[in-house]
Amino acid sequence: MKSNDLVKRMLSANMNGKRILVFGAHPDDIEFGCGPFLIDAAEQGAHLEWNVLSRGEAGTQGDAKTREAEARAAAALANADIRFPETKGDTQIRADREMVLLAASAIRRFKPHYVLAPTGHLNQHPDHRETSLLVRDAFRLARYGKTPGLEDFEPHSSQLILFYEITSGATEDSGLTPFLLDVSGHIDKWTTLMNCHASQVANMDYVELQLAKARALGIQAGVGAALRLYSEGPLLLSSVNALSGLRGQRF
Ligand SMILES: [Zn+2]
Repeated sequence: MKSNDLVKRMLSANMNGKRILVFGAHPDDIEFGCGPFLIDAAEQGAHLEWNVLSRGEAGTQGDAKTREAEARAAAALANADIRFPETKGDTQIRADREMVLLAASAIRRFKPHYVLAPTGHLNQHPDHRETSLLVRDAFRLARYGKTPGLEDFEPHSSQLILFYEITSGATEDSGLTPFLLDVSGHIDKWTTLMNCHASQVANMDYVELQLAKARALGIQAGVGAALRLYSEGPLLLSSVNALSGLRGQRF
């Protein structure tokens, strides 16, 4: 068996049946920010649920109905369940107690192994920043046994929270640890996923911007395209076996 096949089999065994809960502030954030990660995971047998905290109703392009329909089409393509929890809506997302409990309830209900949220750096849409903060807090409260307001669900401790970039600019002093995922094999499907958001891509080529960024990140690692994700603090390998799927730069 070729070593590549072996790595693929190991990854497949690792992701099969894993549950991934993804939060986004607006209907296209998830697809643009971490689409190829989710495509890869779903192909390996992971179960995906997307929680979108607004319908993008304050955006310049598209209305709430159109944008929800675009997101639902993208989710179907990615084999993900999608929910639009009731919130105050676009531009009004805040990491207040109500929203933290809403996200923590979703974590306790879905019981994910992995939780994904946007990066929380300052220089970007405030909804992205606030979503990052509220999910980060929810990730903790979901596992605290007697958190008031979460009595309806059993506590749940997820394995890992990861952050994805909607707008570049998360810096190394943010406390996040960057790592790259080789997404060269998922570019076509990712492109299709992003293009589901016709109302957003009509006036500016956001898709090409994401692809150009992925190609530039790929150059750093000697692959065709890469997606940058972040963990909070250092990533921990459970044993040396986890090294089998990792590699450094190859030129
Ligand atoms: Zn957004």
